[in-house]
Amino acid sequence: MTRLLFQGVEGEFDATIQGAPGLASETWNSTSQLRAGSVAPSPFPDPCSLIPVFDKLREECGVVAIHGHPDAARQVYLGLYALQHRGQESAGIATADGQRLANIKGMGLVSEIFTDDVLAKLPGSMAIGHTRYSTTGDSALLNAQPIRVDSTKGLIAIAHNGNLVNLGNIRARLERDGAYFQTTSDSEIIVQLIAHSRAGTLVDAIAGSLAQVEGAFSIVMMTRDRVFAARDPRGFRPLSMGRIKNPGGPDTIVFASETCAFDLLRAEYIRDVLPGELVMVTEDGVTSRQYASGVPQSSCIFEHVYFARPDSRIFGRWVQESRDQMGRQLARESGIPADVIVPVPDSGVTAALGYAEEAAIPFRFGLIRNHYVGRTFIEPEQRVRDFGVRLKLNPVRNLLEGKRVVLIDDSIIRGTTSRKIVRMVRGAGAKEVHLRISCPPTISPCFYGVDTPSKRDLIAANKSVEEIRRFIEADSLAYLSLDGLLNCCQGDHPTGYCTACYTGNYPTEWVDAEDILPATVSL
Ligand code: SF4
Repeated sequence: MTRLLFQGVEGEFDATIQGAPGLASETWNSTSQLRAGSVAPSPFPDPCSLIPVFDKLREECGVVAIHGHPDAARQVYLGLYALQHRGQESAGIATADGQRLANIKGMGLVSEIFTDDVLAKLPGSMAIGHTRYSTTGDSALLNAQPIRVDSTKGLIAIAHNGNLVNLGNIRARLERDGAYFQTTSDSEIIVQLIAHSRAGTLVDAIAGSLAQVEGAFSIVMMTRDRVFAARDPRGFRPLSMGRIKNPGGPDTIVFASETCAFDLLRAEYIRDVLPGELVMVTEDGVTSRQYASGVPQSSCIFEHVYFARPDSRIFGRWVQESRDQMGRQLARESGIPADVIVPVPDSGVTAALGYAEEAAIPFRFGLIRNHYVGRTFIEPEQRVRDFGVRLKLNPVRNLLEGKRVVLIDDSIIRGTTSRKIVRMVRGAGAKEVHLRISCPPTISPCFYGVDTPSKRDLIAANKSVEEIRRFIEADSLAYLSLDGLLNCCQGDHPTGYCTACYTGNYPTEWVDAEDILPATVSL
């Protein structure tokens, strides 16, 4: 069963839907029984009993918004479906029909939560949606988004991708001013700032509030009759605007974290929402204002390395193009004689293709990924070594046996997964195993909406490249240089990137000092 939280949804109904099999069943009724902000106990397994299949950094969220479509909820559903890779913990959709603002969110995948019956309860021509993997705020349903708040400025729903970094101060100030927070999510800070703003208009209140917060945010917001989209002044997270042309009527306007969502909606890309820009869509059309300017752009370069889908255009550049270039550059910087180039699927595939072409060495799928394994699984027996990786990846022995293999991956975080993969390839008969990483060593945690371990758990923060090579048991190891990576991610117009996880130089002043202190525990 999948848990749902309903807000502002009319009528009595059974809120339990079929979702993840085997989990406990709960039946809730609509808002008459479930106060906004109340959450039933979790039927999900204790997260401590789950272990990650792969050691990867995880993206925080994906957002979608739509204005001017008769079936807005279903369109947002499709958009979220395309953005599922940006968060699988919870999802939500809020809709507005000019009068009401309804919101339904639940734990699980988009397709598990939003059945036909559930979508039918979300009327209106405007909608915003969110899919989430949390870092700030606990992972309860209450913190799932969109967050819907009844404020002095009317009903507002917000969905946010990113992470605020001056949360403590502002929250304390707002609470002193009488704010009552429904959630522990940093996204609600923005809504409370708007609610407590003394500005005369809603647009001024939003612009003034966004100017007060520091950190990464690409947000979509909605009132009963308007949709808003905004990016933080440094443009950490992507957010694009598109349109669906309606013959004889106004265009439908769409916003999404990645342009791959537009493809499913048959929307055409118009442009990115600019860093520091607030866009408003009403019945009268689209208006925009620059609420902040003069701050250097620092878009997340790791979107190009790993997070975004290769069929998306991010920060003005196709991700596929960047990853292809990363592979080529890696081959130029650290090529080595080999018989076969093998990607660690799926995220290493595009860079491996570029590497193979540049090095003129055959590309082969020497590791096959099982696509039906979830993000996490319950390990049956601790003593089954390397079980997690073997569950997800399997070597193709006839492609690897007796070969000098170059493995291409996009990151080494703790090093344990890389070691298992190297062992797996060697165990399949490879004569040599060389590992090439399509970005520089990850030495510092992220504070801008990406789930990273603290410095003490990042292997590259504690060991030299040669020590890491020995730890993962590879014959050779090389990373892409920072200059090489930056060059690979430049499109037609120069883009300023955040590279803090590779350099430790953070574009904002405030970060959690605890997490960036030199490591005291060596791996
Ligand atoms: S620290 Fe790394 S992951 Fe975080 S925003 Fe900067 S580049 Fe992206």
